[in-house]
Amino acid sequence: MHTTTRYTVDPARLDGVEDEPLFQAVAAEAADQGIPAFAIGGYVRDRLIGRPCKDIDFVVEGDGMAFAQAVARRLKAEPVHVFKNFGTAMFTLRDPQGEVQVEFVGARKESYSRNSRKPEVEPGSIKDDQERRDFTINALAISMNVGSLGALVDPFGGILDLDRGLIRTPLDPDITFSDDPLRMLRAVRFANQLGFVIDPPTFEAIKRNAHRLEIISAERIHTELNKIIACAKPSIGFNLLRDSGLLQEFFPEFVALSGAEEKYGIGHKDNFHHTLQVLDNVCEVSDDLWLRWGAVLHDIAKPLTKRFHPGHGWTFHGHEDKGARMVPALFRRMKLPLDEKMKFVQKLVALHLRPIALTKDEVTDSAVRRLLFDAGDDIDALMILCRADITSKNEKKKDRYLRNYELVMQKLKDVEEKDRVRNFQPPITGQDIMDAFGIGPSRPIGDIKTVIKDAILDGRIQNDRAQAWQLMVEEGARLGLSLRAGLEHPPTVG
Ligand code: ATP
Repeated sequence: MHTTTRYTVDPARLDGVEDEPLFQAVAAEAADQGIPAFAIGGYVRDRLIGRPCKDIDFVVEGDGMAFAQAVARRLKAEPVHVFKNFGTAMFTLRDPQGEVQVEFVGARKESYSRNSRKPEVEPGSIKDDQERRDFTINALAISMNVGSLGALVDPFGGILDLDRGLIRTPLDPDITFSDDPLRMLRAVRFANQLGFVIDPPTFEAIKRNAHRLEIISAERIHTELNKIIACAKPSIGFNLLRDSGLLQEFFPEFVALSGAEEKYGIGHKDNFHHTLQVLDNVCEVSDDLWLRWGAVLHDIAKPLTKRFHPGHGWTFHGHEDKGARMVPALFRRMKLPLDEKMKFVQKLVALHLRPIALTKDEVTDSAVRRLLFDAGDDIDALMILCRADITSKNEKKKDRYLRNYELVMQKLKDVEEKDRVRNFQPPITGQDIMDAFGIGPSRPIGDIKTVIKDAILDGRIQNDRAQAWQLMVEEGARLGLSLRAGLEHPPTVG
C-alpha cells in the first residue's frame, strides 16, 4: 500500500529567485513604478516544499492590471488577459520547462457580510492581502523589492506550519471560515493533498461552521470534492469531511453508509469504510476521476436496501440497480456533468456485482458474453472496480474471490477473442429483415433482432452473418412472414 508522502521544507529553494527572468522583470517594474510587489500564495508554498506548480500569482500595492501589461511587455509575453471584474490580469509564459500562468492583482482588503461569499473589496497593503488568505501556508509571499528581493514575507508563521505539516488559518478560524465557508473544504483538500494535519482549533472551528456551507454553490463544492477524489488516498479527505460534519451538508447519502448494525449477534460491514477502501484501491491503479466516482457510489444504495432476515442475516438486494438510479439525481444536485461521464458512473454502479456474481456459479461462456455485451468498452474500468471491491478481512474468502476474479478475467479474454461481442454490432440489420420479408418498420423486426442477439450471446449461434441469416429465416417463418424468393441465404454485399 502507498502512504501519502509528506513534503519537507527547504528555504534554500528560494535561492536564485533574483536570477530568474520572470522575477527580474517583476522586480525591475516594481522599482521603476516605485510600488511594492510580491509573489504570493500557492506558488511560494509549493516552491518551498519542492512541489511542481504552474501558476504564479503576484500581488502589487497598486494597479495589478497595468502592472501585468508592463511586465508582459518586458518579457514579450503578450497578450495579457484582463479580468476587470476581479481586478486581475494574466499572461502565459513559455519557457523550456513548459507553460506557466502568471497572474497579477492589486493588494486587497476585504470585508464580508454574513449571507454572501462576495466581499466588499478595497485596495490595501500586502499585510491586508495576506490576512484575507485562507491558511498560513497559503499566505506566504516573496518580496520583489529592491533591498529585499527574494526574501520571504511571512507574518503568520507559514513556513513553520509548512515544516510541521499544519493547516491553520492566519486569523481567528471562526472569522476566516464564516467569511468564506469554502475554505473549510479547502482545508480538508490541502490536508489530503499535502499529507498535512488540520490544526485542532482550526478543525474545531470547521465543526462549528460546517452548516455555513449552505451559502456555497454546488459547483464550487464539487470542484473541491473532485480534488479530494483525485488525491492518492482520498479516504483521508473523506474521513475528515465526515468527522468535521462537512460531508453531511452536501452528501448525506455517503454519511448514511456509516455504521455496522448488529442483530442477534450477526453484523454487517461498515459500508462507509468499505467504500473508502474500494476507492483507495481504485486510486492505486487508475487516475480516472469518473472511475473513482464509480467507486464512491458503487454501494450508495446499501442503506436504502438493507434488510435483516432472521436465520439468514443481512442483505442489500438490488442496491446496484437502486444505486444506479440514484446517480442522475446526485449528479444533478452536485452540478456534476449529466453527459456520458454520468452514464459511465451509472453503468459501473449498475454492473459492479456482475463479474463477481459470475464466479459464484460455474463461469459459463454465455454469462461472460452477456457481461461483455452489457459493459462494452467500459469492461476494463468495471473489472478494476470489481477487483478493488474485494476487501474481505477473511483471508480465505479473499483468496477465493481473487482466484475467481482471475478466472473471470481469463474467460473474458478468451470469449472476446472468439466472439467479439465487446462492441457488438448485430450481423443482421433491421433493413436486412425488412428486405428479406418485404415488410415495413414493425414489431417483428425488433423481435427477430432480439432473438438473434440472444442466440449469439447464449452461444447457440456464432457472431456470423450466415448463421444469423438462417435463424432470421426460421424465426420469420415462425412469425408467419413469407420470405422473398432468392433470399434463403444472405445476398453477397457489394
Ligand atoms: P491549487 O492550485 O491546487 O488549487 P492553490 O493554493 O494554488 O492550490 P488557488 O485556488 O489557485 O490554490 O489559490 C491561490 C491562492 O489564493 C491560495 O494559495 C490562497 O492564498 C488564495 N486563495 C484561494 N482561494 C481562497 C479562498 N477561498 N480564501 C482565501 N484565500 C484563497
